Amino acid sequence: MQKVAIITGISGQDGAYLSQFLLEKGYKVIGLVRNNSKTPLRGLNYLGIEREVQIITCDLNDIQQIIKILQNEKPSEIYNLAAQSSVSLSFQQPIDTLSFNIISLLNLLESIRLVNPAIRFYQASSSEMYGKVAQLPIVEQTAIHPLSPYGISKAAAHWTTVNYREAYNLFTCAGVLFNHESYLRGDHFFVKKVIRESIKINKAKSNILEVGNIAIRRDFGYAPKYVEAMWLMLQQDQADDYLICSGESVLLRDIILHIFKRLNINEDRIQINPKFLRPTDIEDIYGVPYKAKIKLNWNYNMSFFEVLDLLLEEELKNYVEE
Ligand code: NAP
Repeated sequence: MQKVAIITGISGQDGAYLSQFLLEKGYKVIGLVRNNSKTPLRGLNYLGIEREVQIITCDLNDIQQIIKILQNEKPSEIYNLAAQSSVSLSFQQPIDTLSFNIISLLNLLESIRLVNPAIRFYQASSSEMYGKVAQLPIVEQTAIHPLSPYGISKAAAHWTTVNYREAYNLFTCAGVLFNHESYLRGDHFFVKKVIRESIKINKAKSNILEVGNIAIRRDFGYAPKYVEAMWLMLQQDQADDYLICSGESVLLRDIILHIFKRLNINEDRIQINPKFLRPTDIEDIYGVPYKAKIKLNWNYNMSFFEVLDLLLEEELKNYVEE
């Protein structure tokens, strides 16, 4: 019988790549979108799979709507990717970020508990929940100390996911993903913004690249490879949590310099704008994907500069003058 997977946050970067991956595996994929989503099919359209995914409108704040969908569609797997996912925006909208990112998760888990406890569940946790770390690299046992409302929301959702496994015996897995990028990344995220703005400078449509703190480091990877790990987690005999990362961190400034070099742009086009500085920020973060490698057989070996070249090529191919 064909397996049915429900994905929340289908309009986002990971929703699109995960849909593509699951369709290739033979799943029926159902994507949940909110009523006022501005571009619900953007990623699916880009990948040419919009007709293959069934879209259902759902307010994840309303548990009754979720229960009805689970009763009607009978999924065997649910991937919870919907979230207010911007760290910067979370400082401006802490209440919305915390309330949506936690309540939507609780509603999904309660619905599973009520309708069918055998449904396997994936939660999109984030490395941002580690925040202030005493020691690197991050490992599964590293203490959680978030430095943003987004990080706090993801930490709460993470522990709720673990608790539903331990308290109610549900098959819930939290994938702690570190930054991962693709052409489908939202325009306001750092790497996407650097590439898009640099192309504009290269084409004489803009003069400067305005950024915040670029003296910080992050562990970056390639989104289409990271979604595979989500699926692998739900195929194991035992539910568990995993770090999904590249294993090294890259200085944000070096990302800009790499793109500038490819596009023959001089370093003096970088301008630090205090408007983009965050009240608190993580200085350096990288993890060890050891458990994912051993238990899931998830092997990731792309250098981020190789990923940057892929992303630049794709962005140039799709460039349209504004
Ligand atoms: P994304 O592109 O920002 O997509 C977020 C999705 O959540 C969109 O489909 C968005 O729908 C939906 N959403 C946001 N607010 C909502 C609300 N109030 N009600 C219903 N839906 C809402 O994120 P992504 O990069 O695909 O990431 C997927 C998940 O992984 C997120 O939970 C994110 O926090 C987490 N994560 C991402 C990374 C990363 O580097 N990408 C790293 C760690 C964890 P609309 O289109 O309607 O806004």
